[in-house]
Amino acid sequence: MAKGDQPAVKITYSHLLRALRDGQVKEMTLYPREDLVQAQLKDGRTARVAVFNDDPQIPRMAEAAGVPFSVRYDPDEGAMAAALTNALLGVLLIGLLVLLLRRSASVAQKALGFGRSQARLQPEGSLAVRFDDVAGIDEAKVELQEVVAFLKEPERFTSIGARIPRGVLLVGPPGTGKTLLARAIAGEAGVPFFSISASEFVEMFVGVGASRVRDLFRQAKAKAPCIVFIDEIDAVGRQRGAGIGGGNDEREQTLNQLLTEMDGFEDNSGVILLAATNRADVLDTALLRPGRFDRQIMVELPDRRGREAILGVHARTRPLGEDVSLALWARRTPGFSGADLANLVNEAAILTARRQRSAIDEQSMNEALERVTMGLAARPLQDSAKKRLIAYHEVGHALLTTLLPAADALDKVTLLPRANGVGGFARTTPDEEILDSGLISRAYLDARLVVAMGGRAAELVVFGPAEVTQGASSDLEMVTRTAREMVTRHGFSELGPMALERDGGEVFLGRDWMRPEPDYSARTATIIDRAVQRMARSALDRAVAMLEPRRVLLDQLVEQLIEHETLSGETFRALVEADEQRRALAPA
Ligand code: ADP
Ligand code: MG
Ligand code: ZN
Repeated sequence: MAKGDQPAVKITYSHLLRALRDGQVKEMTLYPREDLVQAQLKDGRTARVAVFNDDPQIPRMAEAAGVPFSVRYDPDEGAMAAALTNALLGVLLIGLLVLLLRRSASVAQKALGFGRSQARLQPEGSLAVRFDDVAGIDEAKVELQEVVAFLKEPERFTSIGARIPRGVLLVGPPGTGKTLLARAIAGEAGVPFFSISASEFVEMFVGVGASRVRDLFRQAKAKAPCIVFIDEIDAVGRQRGAGIGGGNDEREQTLNQLLTEMDGFEDNSGVILLAATNRADVLDTALLRPGRFDRQIMVELPDRRGREAILGVHARTRPLGEDVSLALWARRTPGFSGADLANLVNEAAILTARRQRSAIDEQSMNEALERVTMGLAARPLQDSAKKRLIAYHEVGHALLTTLLPAADALDKVTLLPRANGVGGFARTTPDEEILDSGLISRAYLDARLVVAMGGRAAELVVFGPAEVTQGASSDLEMVTRTAREMVTRHGFSELGPMALERDGGEVFLGRDWMRPEPDYSARTATIIDRAVQRMARSALDRAVAMLEPRRVLLDQLVEQLIEHETLSGETFRALVEADEQRRALAPA
């Protein structure tokens, strides 16, 4: 803190007083902020002395000695720094304020645009999907093609007084191609196509959904003729006034707005509303009234021919090996949806690429099927007691399904474990006829119960009642469920031909908070339980009775399975056949 040209010397207070008295001081400055006096001495030196705060002595002495005395509030470094900090703080604060103001302005702006619909308008013909890309759901396709015809040549229909449908609802299980079909329409119709997922209507803020609906319809009317597609409409269209803790106000408002808008356009306005859902059963009945979604198109799981066609669509863009027969693969994939089939072909393509092959072959398809149905493969088990037990369990299932005429045919049995913890499995090909017709005979169900008990039965026969494992618990679950349905719904028990329960006991929060009360008494419930028990027990007994006399065959099959890890249905059947003949010839 040099305050002069020369380095300041520090002197004591009394020293300064003496210097003053002796007339050695030229001039003096007081820095009150620092409680410091700086004295310019006559010999040219600068002296600095610390003084008390408000010390009256110094000015008085200076006056007495006739030394010029000044006081300075120096804007020195400390003060400067303080001032600077203040200024900086001010700037910062102002900056912050501006920022905040701006932010809130943009929030406000966003909020203003919130009610606008998020529907994407697809320009005509810009979509790559065509009706050709949708296969296996021909009825739905034909009906929708009719809708497209309405849009393309409305005069043809209106001239003879036909009313153009207002709303078309696509209903069907997930993955059957509803969204795909809607996109195909957009590609084919040659009219503007608005698409939105119903969940996009529902926002945190009350009223937003309704205003989005309004906005969507305003846009659509301006563009008519056009199609508005609302995917997964159950997100807003659920039964009103249901659900836990009262209805969801926002959803209801949105639905009400939708209903109002649908009523609002005149006949033949050229706006067709298309919607898709997996669950028509939960939709509000008001939505399904005539004049709203007056046309429902069922999109079902594809049958064998459909599956073949869908596989064909997905194989179109991929090189297929000579050995792959799509007809055969269609046969092997009953119950698969279009999405499952697309996934299967894609997995096969991935495996093919990984193997650096140029075409998808049968092996890739096989592995892909395994992946799709059973999950990723895990490392094979070491040969151990556990592996042996799993082998007996799976061979038990496989042998019974082969022996029982009413049961499904064995496709393969394997000991290759899966990442999801399955140690091995015996897979059957479901009977096509049964699957497609939906008619299931009592003999078939009885056989299924016995086959399901095959795993537990083999463990019992081979290892004894003390060694059986919980590995059969999912089998038991299946048996219990099937037996219960047989008793309460199909009338396949001593209770007689009575339907005691209705389809689908599934708890759905939107409508039935709890299972409806059963229609039968507690006494009947006990009888049902007993009947189910008896069915399960008799299935197990039958399974044991079939496996016990075939102990040699059982051991032989297990040896084969452990050696080869996988046995095909044919191989397995051949082994069983040979043994049956040997037993028939052998003396009893
Ligand atoms: P959904 O909407 O019925 O749940 P998607 O239309 O989303 O099913 O189908 C998913 C995917 O599955 C489609 O993108 C397509 O690749 C395939 N897919 C489903 N159904 C079919 C079908 N009928 N024909 C061809 N591909 C299909
Ligand atoms: Mg969909
Ligand atoms: Zn099992």
